[in-house]
Amino acid sequence: MKDSELETMRNSFNTVKNRSNSLIESPSAKRLISRGREIKKYSIENNDELLNQVCESFKRNDVDFKIAETAEDALSIIDDLLCEYDCNTIAKAKSNTLGEINLKRHLANENIDVVETDLGDRILQLKKIDNKPVHPTGPASHLNVDNITDIVNESLDVNVNPVPREIMEAVRYDVLKRLENANVGISGANAIASEEGSIVMVHNEGNISLVSLKDLHIIVAGIDKIVPTLEDAISIVKLETIFATGNYVTSYMNVISGPSKTADIEKKLLKNMYGAERVVVILLDNGRSDATQECLYCIGCGNCVVHCPVYNAVGNEFGFNNYLGGRGVAMSKFIEDDETCYNSGLYMCTLCGLCTLNCPVDIPTNEIIENMRKLSADAGFYPKAHGIIKDNVSSKDSPY
Ligand code: SF4
Repeated sequence: MKDSELETMRNSFNTVKNRSNSLIESPSAKRLISRGREIKKYSIENNDELLNQVCESFKRNDVDFKIAETAEDALSIIDDLLCEYDCNTIAKAKSNTLGEINLKRHLANENIDVVETDLGDRILQLKKIDNKPVHPTGPASHLNVDNITDIVNESLDVNVNPVPREIMEAVRYDVLKRLENANVGISGANAIASEEGSIVMVHNEGNISLVSLKDLHIIVAGIDKIVPTLEDAISIVKLETIFATGNYVTSYMNVISGPSKTADIEKKLLKNMYGAERVVVILLDNGRSDATQECLYCIGCGNCVVHCPVYNAVGNEFGFNNYLGGRGVAMSKFIEDDETCYNSGLYMCTLCGLCTLNCPVDIPTNEIIENMRKLSADAGFYPKAHGIIKDNVSSKDSPY
C-alpha cells in the first residue's frame, strides 16, 4: 500500500475507534460482550451437533443446503447452480467467505459478470489493481475522495466531481443497470440460527435486499457461523456492528428462513412472489474442522486490525486474502498451509497483544501466533536469520 493510502486508512480507523469507544462502555454493549464469547464458545464446541440441527431446520424451511469440504467443492456447487439458471450476471454482496473461495477470479474465467453491490467493494472492483480490502466492513477505507473519483471516472467513463454523493449516485446507476438481467444473487451470512434454520445478514446500504430478490439466492457461509438460536444470532450481529461501525444497529437486518412464497389464492402454495424462488446455503468447512477453536470465535468486526500497530504501519500486507491481520494469518494455516501462513506475515506480528485486548470475544491471537511459529518452524518455515542463529547454536554453542 502507498504511504498516502496508509495515512487515509489510519484516519478512517480513528473515526471508527472514536465511535465504537463511545458505545462499548454502555450497559447493553457490556451485556453483549459478556454473552458474545459464551455464544461462540458453545457454538464451536458443539459445532457438529448444531450442523446436524441446522440441516434439519433447513429441510423443514424448504431451504436447499450443501456441505462443501473445500473451496473447490463450493465453487463446483456454485458452477452447477449457475448452469441450471443459465446465468451470466450475478449480484454479489460483501462476504469474506466468498473472498476465501476466490469466487470472482473463478467466475471471471467463465466470463460471468460478478457485480459487487456494496459501494466500498464496488470501488475496489473498479480499481482492478491492488484491490484487496483493508477492513471487513470498510473495504475501501484507504482511498480518499480524490482517489475514488479518479477510479470511478476512469472505469465508468463518467465525469463526476470529488463529491461523495455524486460518486455514490454514479456507482448506483451503473450497478443497477448491470443487474437488470441478473437472475442470481450471492452473499455470505453474518450468523445462522440452527434451531430456526434462519440466516441473518446485516447491511447499511440495502444491497442485500437487491441480492436476495433474484430468482436464486446462494448463501456461502463457514460452518463457524452457526449458533444455537435466532436470539444468539442477533446478539452476535449486534456485537459485530458495535465494534465494526460504532453504531448499535445497521440500517437493515435481513433474516431469511426460506424462499419467497404465498398461499393467498385458495391456499395453494406459490413460490417467487417477490423474493427468491430458491435459497441454497453452502456450508463451508475448508479447514475449519482442524482449526484452533478460538480462531473460529471471530465475529468479523475488524477491531483487532484497527488497533494493531503492525497493520496500521503496513496495511493489508499483514493477513491472508480477505482475512486481515494476525487472526487472518492464523486462519491461513488451516485454509491453506504452513507456507501460506508464513508468507501472510507470521513473523510480522510483534506479539504485543493489543488485538486480544480489543477483541470483543477475547481471541488470544498473539498466543495463537506464537504457537503457530513453533509449528511453522517444525515444518521448515522460519526467517533466514533465525536459521543462521539455530545453525550457530548447534555448531558453535553460540548464537554469534
Ligand atoms: S479477531 Fe476479534 S477483534 Fe478481530 S475481527 Fe475477529 S472478533 Fe473482531
